[in-house]
Amino acid sequence: TLSINGVRKSYGSLEVLSNIDLELEDGGFLVLLGPSGCGKSTLLSIIAGLEPSSGGDIFIGERKMNDVHPKDRNIAMVFQSYALYPTMPVRRNIGFGLEMRKVPQGERDAAVQKAAELLQIEHLLDRKPGQLSGGQRQRVAMGRAIVRDPDLFLFDEPLSNLDAKLRVEMRTEIKRLHDRLGTSVVYVTHDQVEAMTLGTKVAVMRNGIIQQLADPQTIYEKPANMFVAGFIGSPT
Ligand code: ATP
Ligand code: MG
Repeated sequence: TLSINGVRKSYGSLEVLSNIDLELEDGGFLVLLGPSGCGKSTLLSIIAGLEPSSGGDIFIGERKMNDVHPKDRNIAMVFQSYALYPTMPVRRNIGFGLEMRKVPQGERDAAVQKAAELLQIEHLLDRKPGQLSGGQRQRVAMGRAIVRDPDLFLFDEPLSNLDAKLRVEMRTEIKRLHDRLGTSVVYVTHDQVEAMTLGTKVAVMRNGIIQQLADPQTIYEKPANMFVAGFIGSPT
């Protein structure tokens, strides 16, 4: 279980997250949904340990993560810009994190092969990122996250660079992967449809405050306030 207890974040006098409480059961899929600037990426960065919070605690199970180095959190993050290494073939891009952690080559190759099969990109392993389509690059970025066998995936608008058709395709792919792997996910988006189709739980955010946390159906049928109703487009 991921527990976020009273997490706050300020930049100078600007408070971008105020008193965030969230809980995600193992294997759950939590979507953070909200408009640009509401604090979604900041919260993900704090969970990943890439950014310090200004207060509050984060637990994974019994383990308090506040002082755990990002490398030791066993959390894998996938960004909107995939940040693949352009000169390395896909195989090495996917295995690079394992390489850095001195995982022996045989073990590494096996993990890369398994992730590639799961993502159906085995035939692309010897290509460079420049020789791939946007959707294929997105799969490589997910492969890089999957090989690490993390406790938690963090996705920050991973589909926003794709065209509409690919977005739908990759959405289905992410759902399939989640069903297969059963790893907990926190997924950031400002796309209502993505949120409602992927999330087992959706947190609607505005100005650093969670407006409502519920399953998609409840959010749609019983929005907590006008903002949520307007943002979701529910018939209130
Ligand atoms: P988007 O959907 O556009 O990605 P977001 O919900 O991810 O938005 P954040 O990136 O978390 O939003 O930013 C939240 C707020 O914090 C914004 O008002 C932003 O300007 C501010 N902010 C983010 N990083 C910094 C920083 N390093 N210094 C000052 N303000 C920052
Ligand atoms: Mg963001």
